[in-house]
Amino acid sequence: MRFTAKLESGRLWPMLIILVAIAIGWSTLLSGSGGGTERALRDVRDSIRHHAASGSIVIVEVDAKSLHSLNNWPWPRRHHAALVDRLHKAGAQSIGFDIDFSAHSNDADDALLAKALKNAGGSVILPTFRQPVGSGSAAFAENLPIPILRENAFLASVNIHPDNEGQVLEYINGVRTQGTIRPSLAGMIAEQSGNGSASFVIDQAIDPASIPRFSFVDVVNGKVPEAAIRGKRILIGATAIELGDRYGVPRHGVLPGVVIQAMAAETLLQGTTNPSFGGLPLLLLAMVIVGLAAFAQSLRRQIVWLAGGVTLALTVPLALEFASIGTLEASPALALLLVAAFGLAIRAIVTAFVHKSLVDQETQLPNGGALARRVLLPDQIVVAARIARFGETLSILGAKASAELVRRASERISFAAHDRTVYRVGDDALAWIADSNDQAGLDDVIAALAGLFRAPLQIGNRAVELSLSYGAVNNPTGDARTLASQALVAADSAAENGLRWMWHSISMGAEIDWKLALLSELDGALASGQIWVAYQPKADITTGQISGAEALVRWNHPERGLVPPDHFIPVIEAAGRIRELTLFVLQRALADLATWHADGDDLGIAVNISTPLLDDLHFADDVAAIIAASGVHPARLTLEITESAALANPERAVAAMERLVALGLRLSIDDYGTGQSTLSYLKRLPAAEIKIDKSFITDLVNTRNDQILVRSTIDLAHELGFKVVAEGIEDAACMALLATLGCDTAQGWHIGKPVATDVFAALLEPKLALAA
Ligand code: C2E
Ligand code: MG
Ligand code: MG
Repeated sequence: MRFTAKLESGRLWPMLIILVAIAIGWSTLLSGSGGGTERALRDVRDSIRHHAASGSIVIVEVDAKSLHSLNNWPWPRRHHAALVDRLHKAGAQSIGFDIDFSAHSNDADDALLAKALKNAGGSVILPTFRQPVGSGSAAFAENLPIPILRENAFLASVNIHPDNEGQVLEYINGVRTQGTIRPSLAGMIAEQSGNGSASFVIDQAIDPASIPRFSFVDVVNGKVPEAAIRGKRILIGATAIELGDRYGVPRHGVLPGVVIQAMAAETLLQGTTNPSFGGLPLLLLAMVIVGLAAFAQSLRRQIVWLAGGVTLALTVPLALEFASIGTLEASPALALLLVAAFGLAIRAIVTAFVHKSLVDQETQLPNGGALARRVLLPDQIVVAARIARFGETLSILGAKASAELVRRASERISFAAHDRTVYRVGDDALAWIADSNDQAGLDDVIAALAGLFRAPLQIGNRAVELSLSYGAVNNPTGDARTLASQALVAADSAAENGLRWMWHSISMGAEIDWKLALLSELDGALASGQIWVAYQPKADITTGQISGAEALVRWNHPERGLVPPDHFIPVIEAAGRIRELTLFVLQRALADLATWHADGDDLGIAVNISTPLLDDLHFADDVAAIIAASGVHPARLTLEITESAALANPERAVAAMERLVALGLRLSIDDYGTGQSTLSYLKRLPAAEIKIDKSFITDLVNTRNDQILVRSTIDLAHELGFKVVAEGIEDAACMALLATLGCDTAQGWHIGKPVATDVFAALLEPKLALAA
């Protein structure tokens, strides 16, 4: 994380990218390793600049047709003489031969050609070529035409120089052999002899097919109109395949030597020799651009800079070539730009990845990971807020609207907490860093928040009321995320104690430890019998006959002794494992009931159901399966649901209860009177019974108010069709009073305390009459 944090910000990335890119750019320049790319680029530019030849250079070709009609090669020189005469008469501006005249033929023919050359005013150009003195020799000699011919002609070198890969790219202005410089044929034809042995690049954008060509034999036989020759610069050479003299060139494949001479001459005539200024100018430009891109703030700007750089590297050489100024090598600059683009792309990916890992995807709020990166100053504290009953909200609103709710809640917090960044540190938990650790300041902020949250949040067309509890940590050690989780423990503690907020204390940690330990021991405790089911008898209030029992879970912990259900059930609920425990109790209770039925006792059994199970859509199926397996009639089973669970979310409670009632069992509203529900509201629930909470019963005999309340409750409940159970009956007087008030069933220590199965079974034996 540290490393990516550095990569993600600061100067390290840009510097790294610039350095690597420049290194690659320069090594491309110095090693010339971009040659292949360079050629490919030039070919592309040439095809863009593709254009026709000027037409002022004309090739007279010794082609297959001429060879066929004039027979045995080498031809007698009278044919060449005839050609020179024809061309001269037709008014050719210049005439150049790319045909070897270095050997004697017969004297008559040699004389004829010499005469024709003389008649042409001595302006015909004859070829010389340089070649090694002998095979394997390092010395070179110049092959000249025979003396009789060279007396009446200019001489020009026709050497062609393929590169290492056998391609003809460049053309040499002149050839120096043993001290003498011989101008090139193309230079003489174009009348630009150039300087010495310098070379230029043949312009391959010129279309060789557009250079006018005539067959040697057609010219000699007068089949070519004079107008096609007048004023033209004529090059004569072999194009017939059998005569060889062919070379590879870029773009156009293999061309005869005379066509290459013509292309070179055209290049000179058109002025498109375009000298190369090398790769340095564009490389320097690219360095500047990469520098700007690497330090650009947004990815878009980086892309614009780099794309601009690549465009320049591709188009500047083309523009210079179009303007016949010269050309530039682009590959070093391109290498630099591509490496930089690669580096910046990696940086962008890493940044996006890091960003994603630091942002809660549902709300786009910074998450716990982002909080963990915050370094706390000595006088800073971490405050956290827990949204109460977020699970319910989620089940009603759905994930999207709940996320919106969290986001809106974060806005309110940020507003009250002086624009602090609010982090989402859990589904239902937000946290922020506050400045001072003085309690008054925090009190103010949280009082302001309480005020703000009094107004419901409008989500879609629903007004949602949120209740938040807060916690804070004022002795910051450890990272901010850990502190936020401690603050949340304090927030939960505050909620349990009915406070707005609490400081986190060490003992809270100990309690969490203890809860975590309990959870980890749950499986073992279920298997080993540490967790077992006690039965508290219920009696018919008029006869005193035991009519059934309530199953109550017990945990005999080896170290902590008997842990009360009120302590461990909330922990198990919070950990999402209450279904296992409930099904365990249900299975035991039904199995025991089945045994008692077998013994002839006609009893019912009540089992408590936790609130979170109302959300569990599979719970009813599990219950059905257990009932079926036990063989007990479903009507013998009563499930107790607390009044507060039935109230918290009526729609959901009704739906869940209907699923259960459909199985044929009974439902009871437990702890009735502790919530704020009216009986008429409860009538909407498919329950068969209400169970008046023990807080109204235990002291009933001495409390007039309770008597009034219990009497009216019993009356109204009966009117609405509920059976009434009173729990917490501790003495005979209470039992008697309840009997006169019309209560149906009694439960409490007076009838019997919760006891183990065998003890309960023993209770059934004498069928004790406990009626008062
Ligand atoms: P509850 O369902 O209201 O159970 C009645 C509680 O009152 C029991 O406490 C019982 O021991 C106690 N009690 C019974 N008669 C008297 C009496 O005459 N005087 C007094 N002072 N108390 C009496 P217990 O067993 O500690 O259970 C506490 C709560 O734990 C239960 O309240 C119930 O909500 C929950 N609970 C127990 N077993 C289970 C279970 O298997 N599943 C679930 N979800 N909750 C359970
Ligand atoms: Mg109960
Ligand atoms: Mg109760």
